[in-house]
Amino acid sequence: MDLTSPKTIKNIQSKFGFTFKKGLGQNFLTSSAVLDDITDAAEIDGGVIEIGPGFGVLTQRLSEAADKVVSVEIDERLIDVLEYTLADCGNVKIIHGDVLKLDLHKLIAEEFPEQKISIAANLPYYITTPIITRLLEERLPINNIVVMVQKEVAERLQARPGTKDYGTITVMCRYYTEPEIITIVPSGLFVPPPKVDSAVLRLRLLDKPRVDVKDEKIFFRTVKSAFLQRRKTLLNCLASSFGLSKTELTQIMEAVGIEPSRRGETLDINEFAALSDGLTERIK
Ligand code: SAM
Repeated sequence: MDLTSPKTIKNIQSKFGFTFKKGLGQNFLTSSAVLDDITDAAEIDGGVIEIGPGFGVLTQRLSEAADKVVSVEIDERLIDVLEYTLADCGNVKIIHGDVLKLDLHKLIAEEFPEQKISIAANLPYYITTPIITRLLEERLPINNIVVMVQKEVAERLQARPGTKDYGTITVMCRYYTEPEIITIVPSGLFVPPPKVDSAVLRLRLLDKPRVDVKDEKIFFRTVKSAFLQRRKTLLNCLASSFGLSKTELTQIMEAVGIEPSRRGETLDINEFAALSDGLTERIK
């Protein structure tokens, strides 16, 4: 069954009385070439978890490339559809659930014991950042995350210090991964088409975080505080978040070679690490 064909999509819609739910980010991919790009970029070595299979167009490809695919779909109406469209894919297991609520460590331990897996998805755009944040923060045993996201989001995840796109999620992705835009995908390649263009992004997990920090919680607290009020200087942002006097903070910043008048968005990841280590020594 060719699920990239708009005609097949229409037929399935009428067979199951299915209408797209905008609120669940249901924009289905119809490009065979992009499906290949996602599957290749995922560098599947055994197992893969897919988020949001929809009608199963990507699931079919993943099923060919992997020993086992576990796909998590929130929309109950799609469970019967997937049973029909994936009838020939014996290595696919569909789980009805919300990827933001599932215990992913447990799922991986049960479905892929002793394995490092890939994650692949054409993500629902309304929850892109929470999903990526969760996948990274939970330190799951994964090699690669390959996701279709809005083009702007992909650019944000790759942004350089000092640009308006640079933010907490950029630093988080650089901390845990090597981010790479694989390809840009025009909105016309989806049914129904979303309002903006998209991009396939690969986040290749590093063996260990890019920078060594004394305390990871304080590192991320420093980063989040620095971007909370982008127009303010680092000194002002951090003083209120860490409850330190400006004199104390100036001393800490000068000791690690960071000018107190700088704005958070100009710091690269090494500077954030140095600053958070300085703060850790002072407040612990
Ligand atoms: N994989 C299909 C494709 O490429 O055509 C569908 C992708 S569509 C952009 C996103 C899918 O994610 C939809 O099937 C939607 O129902 C599902 N979804 C939305 N929120 C979800 C959540 N919290 N957990 C799991 N799936 C979700």
